[in-house]
Amino acid sequence: MTANTNESAAAAFQPIVASHAFEEVVDQISHAVHMGVYEVGSRLPTVEALARAMEVSRPTVSEAVRMLQRAGVLRVRRGAAGGIVVASAVIPPSILKLSTRRVACNLLEVVEARRPIELEVVRLAARRATQEDMAVVRDALRLEEEALGAFNVWTFGNVKFHYALGRAAHSRVLLQYLSELYKELAMFLEAFTPRDFRQPEVTIEEHRDILAAIERHDEEAAAAAMDAHLKELEEVAEAEQVGASPSPRT
Ligand SMILES: [Zn+2]
Repeated sequence: MTANTNESAAAAFQPIVASHAFEEVVDQISHAVHMGVYEVGSRLPTVEALARAMEVSRPTVSEAVRMLQRAGVLRVRRGAAGGIVVASAVIPPSILKLSTRRVACNLLEVVEARRPIELEVVRLAARRATQEDMAVVRDALRLEEEALGAFNVWTFGNVKFHYALGRAAHSRVLLQYLSELYKELAMFLEAFTPRDFRQPEVTIEEHRDILAAIERHDEEAAAAAMDAHLKELEEVAEAEQVGASPSPRT
C-alpha cells in the first residue's frame, strides 16, 4: 500500500541497546570527565558517594570504574592520599558506544542540530559568562594553539572549547543537549584523520572570534561568529551525503 514502509520503520524504531545500570554509570562518569566537570588530575567522589548519587549498588560503580581504568580514563590510587583520579579526558569510542541514549543517525543530522543549540549557547554565554568561565574558554583555546600538529590533543582542545562555551551559558538543559550532541559527533570524528583537518589555524581563528564577541558581551556577534564556524562542518556533512570526501573542522 505504501512505498515508504521501510523508511517509516527506520524513522520510528532505533536499535535497542540493552539498558544496564553498569553502562549508565560508565556513561555518566565518562561524560562528566569529557565535559570537564572533573579535569585531568582531579579526584572523583568516592565509590560510595557515586553509588548514592546514581542510586546504584557499589559493586556496579566499582565495575564501571575498573572499565574506565582499563580504558585509560581513570586511575585508582590506594592509601590515604588515594582515590579515583582522572587520568585522561579523551574518552575512547569503545566507551562512547556504551551510551544507552544514542540515536541512529548520519553526520548531517548531527551537524544540523548544532545550530539551534550552539547559537543559543553563545548568545547566553555572551550574556552570562563570568570571568572564571571565560578563563576556561581561553585555556581550551590555548590548548588548541599549542597542540597544532599534535592531532589528538588538538581535537581534544577543540571539543573542550565547545564544552567550555556550553558551561559559560549557564543553562543546564542546553548543556545536557550539547553533551548528547557531542557524544554523537565524537563517533563520527573518530573516523577522521589529521589529513582531513586541512586548516586547523582557520578553526582557531574562528574560535578566537567567538570568544572575542563573548568577552564584549555582544550576543549577536557571538551568534554570527558561531554561525560562520558551523558552516564548514555542515558543508562537509552535505558533501558526504553525496559521497564526496570529507574535510571537517569542528
Ligand atoms: Zn569549533
